Amino acid sequence: MTSEIQNKDLHQLGVAQLAKAMAERKVSAAETAQHFLARVKSHPELGAFVALNDDVTLAQARAADEKIAAGNAGALAGVPVAHKDIFVTTDFPTTAGSRILSGYQSPYDATVVRKLAEAGVVTLGKLSCDEFAMGSANENVAVPAVGHDKVVPVRNPWDQDRIPGGSSGGSAAAVAARLAPAATGTDTGGSIRQPASFCGITGIKPTYGRASRYGMVAFASSLDQAGPMARSAEDCALLLSSLCGPDPDRDSTSLDRPAENYSRSLNDSLEGLRIGVPKEFLGDGVAPGVRAAIESALAEYEKLGAKRVEVSLPRTELSIPVYYILAPAEASSNLSRFDGVKFGHRANQYADLNDMYRKTREQGFGDEVKRRIMIGTYVLSHGYYDAYYLQAQKVRRMIADDFQNAFKDCDVIAGPAAPTVAWKIGEHGDDPVADYLADIFTLPGSLAGLPGMSLPAGFDGHMPVGLQLIGNYFGETKLLNAAHRFQQATDWHTRTPEGF
Ligand code: GLN
Repeated sequence: MTSEIQNKDLHQLGVAQLAKAMAERKVSAAETAQHFLARVKSHPELGAFVALNDDVTLAQARAADEKIAAGNAGALAGVPVAHKDIFVTTDFPTTAGSRILSGYQSPYDATVVRKLAEAGVVTLGKLSCDEFAMGSANENVAVPAVGHDKVVPVRNPWDQDRIPGGSSGGSAAAVAARLAPAATGTDTGGSIRQPASFCGITGIKPTYGRASRYGMVAFASSLDQAGPMARSAEDCALLLSSLCGPDPDRDSTSLDRPAENYSRSLNDSLEGLRIGVPKEFLGDGVAPGVRAAIESALAEYEKLGAKRVEVSLPRTELSIPVYYILAPAEASSNLSRFDGVKFGHRANQYADLNDMYRKTREQGFGDEVKRRIMIGTYVLSHGYYDAYYLQAQKVRRMIADDFQNAFKDCDVIAGPAAPTVAWKIGEHGDDPVADYLADIFTLPGSLAGLPGMSLPAGFDGHMPVGLQLIGNYFGETKLLNAAHRFQQATDWHTRTPEGF
């Protein structure tokens, strides 16, 4: 340890800085892991972590130190990363936020986890999320957080009376509070972008199929994608370069395209970049403070040489009913595997096999999950399939076509990640539709399978606002380049919530 890096400040370093400091042996992976573990334990109030294992984390860190010393370490050697508890891991339990997976220990690692480990990442622990990634507020979680005996909501570090967003709420809160330099998340309808926006961090969901879904507990398979959440686009680029890539033997929807180096074009000029702003994304439903932050961000882009053009995504509103038909339909099928036989929880008293299934699922699933299984089963049932499921599939295709029309006039689409900042815990009460409506700006890109990200772009009052950038298929490089240049010119992404 040299005098340049103070151990007590390690959590202020991002992924790129930590990787560099470790490669130059200015700090060891073991002391870095120790520092972050201590920090996580000193902030149980956020409820961000659901599993820690010091022995595993420190063993991984020591192994990273050995590889660094031997000169054969990966690009991210020694960097601590925490995983959303929807990625299965051999060294930590996996719950997907659900009681039905209590006691579940996976015999294998998710591909994303494995690829990051191969790059040298040290697993810091598992992060709270909405049950089966169904939610927008991390209020649907059903497992206790580290340091608590009871289930607690994850709190937003910018205002602990507020939600962190969801479903990757633990990931966003942990990164915002500097409990981890980076985390993994998954995004089915916005679960990386919306919590990143609400917690003032940067997160990217790549093109559908870019990252392997193997070992990601399935919610809606035609939408689910993994991605990194960190403080900067530079850090996200590093992680994304390691976690993407084909996985033909394990995920048939992973795309046959070699991994890319997303860091390479971060500094490209934005001169002449056409930024399309869909008029539907800045309408009446957007909070004035959010609109103002987005407008200033767009003005900043114009200063950087980009050109603002107006585009239209006319079916934006339809993305809500379409998504909330298709995602539950897929979920109802995916979640049929949780029957008390193969995984996790099983009711301990039952009359016969059917009664065992019924009681296990009744006890194991939370309200939102049950609601979606029922909606999904309904829209897939004989007599309703054509009216709902098939119709939604057709509109999904039209939504994807609308994007292709818009991309004739622009290179990147920009707008808010969400219409408001993070709301108060409990504010939406028992009204799930209030949560669903807040997904309006992230759902269209998800339905089209496009890459999208959120980056900090200012505040509405004391709460962060995220700028969403949506790219065309495989446009991750352009998104990260646009985000990085913005972050070179602004300091929103460096702001830290008070007390952290
Ligand atoms: N909020 C959306 C939902 O509840 C999206 C969740 C996600 O992306 N996993 O389904």
